[in-house]
Amino acid sequence: MLTQIEGIHHVTSMARDAQVTDRFITGTLGLRRVKKTVNFDAPDVYHLYYANGIGQPGTVMTYFPFPQIVPGRRGAGEVGTTVFSVPEGSLGYWAKRLEDQGVGGLKPEARFGEQRLRFDGADGDGFALVETKGDPRAPWDSADVAPEAAIRGFHSASLVLHDRGGTQALLELMGYRPDAEEDGVLRLSRADANGAGVIDLETRPDAPMARQGAGSVHHIAFAVADDAAQLAVRQRLIEEGFQITPVIDRDYFHSIYFRSPGGVLFEIATNQPGFANDEDMAHLGEALKLPRQHAHLRERLERTLPEIGA
Ligand code: ZN
Repeated sequence: MLTQIEGIHHVTSMARDAQVTDRFITGTLGLRRVKKTVNFDAPDVYHLYYANGIGQPGTVMTYFPFPQIVPGRRGAGEVGTTVFSVPEGSLGYWAKRLEDQGVGGLKPEARFGEQRLRFDGADGDGFALVETKGDPRAPWDSADVAPEAAIRGFHSASLVLHDRGGTQALLELMGYRPDAEEDGVLRLSRADANGAGVIDLETRPDAPMARQGAGSVHHIAFAVADDAAQLAVRQRLIEEGFQITPVIDRDYFHSIYFRSPGGVLFEIATNQPGFANDEDMAHLGEALKLPRQHAHLRERLERTLPEIGA
């Protein structure tokens, strides 16, 4: 069993409109934009990163806004719900806030003894807030959200699968242990996680396969401390027969990618070097940052990328 994985690092989704997405994640949810860059593999669109104040792995929600993209179709083989941790007693505040702002899909529910509130993101993204006792992660404190209710980071992600067997075995290899099962949902967790140590597996044999589009999660990334930990994980996964990319430099972390047995794209990302790699912590996410290989595109990109709020 691998011991290097620390929990979720980031979740990356697709969106239709950069401005609408930016307003929703910073304005409505109160996360901090910690990086404004482009999709390294398709530099004509943004890659926007949102997190707590210090861009801590386990709190990082990222978006590729593609203006022409069609809506995604929910189904199997994807992350169905991305779940954020909020303080105990704060769901009433959130229910009112989200309703006042016209957010759709609001639905209170209980899962594994926890109170949660489901809601839709700007493109119908499957989101939920769950009350967590004593989450030590510091929230972004400059947002328009009551500090005592602010999002602390990810609590979990819920994967929708036709058959969970292969994905469960992979997560157990990655250091997760099954905790409990309820209504067809298996919960796995890591005891010594970065705060985002829970993965739920929802088995839905009859669901259609998801079709990726606006509001879909593109991939889920798991955190490791550094390059050495990443290489050890890569080697072990290769020995288990997974097809894994070489290490790719994403400027703020180093990444490897592979398809999990249930169809969800997994990434393993390093905590190093982090979002203060190319700008001051005090000004994260304000200026357009370009990787070296796309620096020559700056003039065109500054003209063509939509303006988003400060
Ligand atoms: Zn990623």
